[in-house]
Amino acid sequence: MLNIVIFGAPGSGKGTQSDILIENYGLYHISTGDVLRDNIRRGTALGATAKGYMDAGRLIPDELMIDILADVLDANRDAAAKGVIFDGFPRTIAQAEALERMLAERGTAVTTVIGLEVEEQELIERILNRGRLTGRSDDTLETARKRLEVYHNQTSPLRDYYKERGLYHGIEGTGGIDAVAARIAEHIDAL
Ligand code: AMP
Repeated sequence: MLNIVIFGAPGSGKGTQSDILIENYGLYHISTGDVLRDNIRRGTALGATAKGYMDAGRLIPDELMIDILADVLDANRDAAAKGVIFDGFPRTIAQAEALERMLAERGTAVTTVIGLEVEEQELIERILNRGRLTGRSDDTLETARKRLEVYHNQTSPLRDYYKERGLYHGIEGTGGIDAVAARIAEHIDAL
C-alpha cells in the first residue's frame, strides 16, 4: 500500500496536488476539510460543531477528528486497498500518533510525507484568491492569518516528527501546478 501524507500550510496546494495523485496512482483521497465541509452542507450535528471552529480558523479537537478519520477509513476499506492520500490530516502530534496506531492496526503504515513548501505571502494570496473563486467562508484575510498562526504553532512541529522517522520529503510548492506535480511524481516513483 502507498499511504501518502500530503502536508503543508493552508494554501500550499494540498488539495490540488491530491487530485493529480488520485488520477495518476489510483489512491483513495481523504481530505478532512472536505469531510467537514460536506457535513456542514448536509446540516449534520458534526457540521454544526465543526463550523464554529473552521470559521474561527481553529482546529477541530483531536479526539473528534481522530474518530472521524477512523470512521472514514473503515467505511472505505475497499476503495482504499491500494493506499490513501491523507490531505489535511494529521495536523497535530496527537493526530500523527493516532494515525500511526490506526494504520498499524490495519496492517499498514505511512509510506511518505510530502511537505509542500510555499512562502507566507504567496499562501495568503492563494487563500484570498480561492475565497474569491469559491466563496469558501474561512478564506478571508482575518481567518487566513489565524489559520497560518495555528499552522505554525500546532501543525509545523510535525515536520520534525516525520523527519525523525525518516519520512519527511520537502518539495518546493511554487512554480506552477504541473511543475510541482512533476517534483512529487519523481519522489514517489523513486520510493
Ligand atoms: P482544510 O480544508 O484542510 O484547509 O481544512 C479547513 C478547516 O477544517 C481547518 O482550518 C480546520 O478548522 C478544520 N480541519 C480540517 N482538518 C483538520 C484536522 N486534521 N484537525 C483539526 N481540524 C481540521
